Amino acid sequence: MTDIPVQKNEFYDVTVQDLTHDGAGVAKIDGFPIFIQNALPDEEVKVKVIKVKKGYAFGRLEEIKKPSAHRVDAPCPIYKQCGGCQLQHLSYEGQLIAKRKQVQDVLERIGHLKDIPVHPVLGMDHNPWRYRNKAQVPIGEREGGLIAGFYQQRSHEIIDMKECLIQQEINDTVVQTVREICEKHGVRAYNEKTHKGTLRHVMARYGLVTGEVMVVLITRTPDIPNRKAIVEEIAAALPEVKSVVQNVNPKKTNVIFGDETRVLWGNEYIYDFIGDIKFAISARSFYQVNPEQTKVLYEKALEYAGLTGEESVIDAYCGIGTISLFLAKKARKVFGVEIVPEAIEDAKRNAELNEINNAEFAVGEAEVVIPKWYKQGNTADVLVVDPPRKGCDEALLQTIIEMKPKRVVYVSCNPATLARDLRVLEEGGYKTVEVQPVDMFPHTVHCEAVARIERI
Ligand code: SAH
Repeated sequence: MTDIPVQKNEFYDVTVQDLTHDGAGVAKIDGFPIFIQNALPDEEVKVKVIKVKKGYAFGRLEEIKKPSAHRVDAPCPIYKQCGGCQLQHLSYEGQLIAKRKQVQDVLERIGHLKDIPVHPVLGMDHNPWRYRNKAQVPIGEREGGLIAGFYQQRSHEIIDMKECLIQQEINDTVVQTVREICEKHGVRAYNEKTHKGTLRHVMARYGLVTGEVMVVLITRTPDIPNRKAIVEEIAAALPEVKSVVQNVNPKKTNVIFGDETRVLWGNEYIYDFIGDIKFAISARSFYQVNPEQTKVLYEKALEYAGLTGEESVIDAYCGIGTISLFLAKKARKVFGVEIVPEAIEDAKRNAELNEINNAEFAVGEAEVVIPKWYKQGNTADVLVVDPPRKGCDEALLQTIIEMKPKRVVYVSCNPATLARDLRVLEEGGYKTVEVQPVDMFPHTVHCEAVARIERI
């Protein structure tokens, strides 16, 4: 214990040096780190130590003696309660600097990769607010009425929310209108404790280019009281709505969606464009939440793929085929792999919709399907991966190493797993040439990056 230089409930004056991946400031006393919520790099602050662990402590920000040049007032009134954003107190310019550094740090620390060019983050040019095309809002009850909001940080209490500053305005309107209509028809909110009530979540998804909206009612039971009237009123009140879908989740779980999805009104999907490619998007399919930046991200992936028109390309974790179809225009052939069957249906439909005939799609785990293809003698010149936060499966990385595509493009939403996977590829004969972070999620700590990896 004597080695620990701080004590619980004591106050210390420190200079904040860094920002963690979840947005807390880090200061050090004799090399011992203290994590301080809401403190920013370069700030001189007074901190009260509230918890001491073996190798680090948590502190509460008591006073800012010298603020960062990048400190701003968070514009959102519910910023602290919500926790959906973590960096609103940092200027947008400051956020982009911090995200670049985060990528550089993990490449060194986790990937043991030195001197890899990490370019300045490509941020949102004009307005880094109101960018999200999808809202998923939990429904609760207060004084007999329905509230639509968010779970208070570290709790299961739903707080009422009228607007979210990173959400497309139309999604706020859609959620509130659906809430009012459901309330009027006596729909009860799902209650986690009693496992009673009907409406669990409302999801709204907006096609930025087409203006089309999908509403998804996520319910505990297949029945919704006055369903027909509710759906008709939603469609009448919101002309942008082209699709009303119900998803039934009867389980006691905090996973939002259940297995059963059915269309209540209108189409099974809405459309949107990224660049000049049109996409049909159904309720359960993954679709990037920041469409303006998606175009920037995919164009970078396409550039890093270095296609001449002759290549055979595999797009692993392809979702509804978004990247695949971007690549198909410049490649000989593209094969997409994705685990969600509905997404693959969308991908096939999207290829047809755009009259793209050189893209094929398969349902399954990338780490199972691609090794199988390889054993059958099907290889690729270029491989693109865009895995979820946990990164690529080891079996997939090993297959890439054996298959020896001349280039790998790695699109990542988690720099830590990107760094881990780049290390594996490095040991298997690949070199990471450059990394381009793209800001898909302004005001949050989330950080997206594309890496160009070449066979040596
Ligand atoms: N490239 C797409 C999707 C990226 S998100 C886009 O930009 O829109 C990651 C996708 O990986 C999701 O669609 C998810 O369903 C899928 N996925 C998750 N685990 C997988 C696995 N083991 N094999 C294949 N796909 C997987």
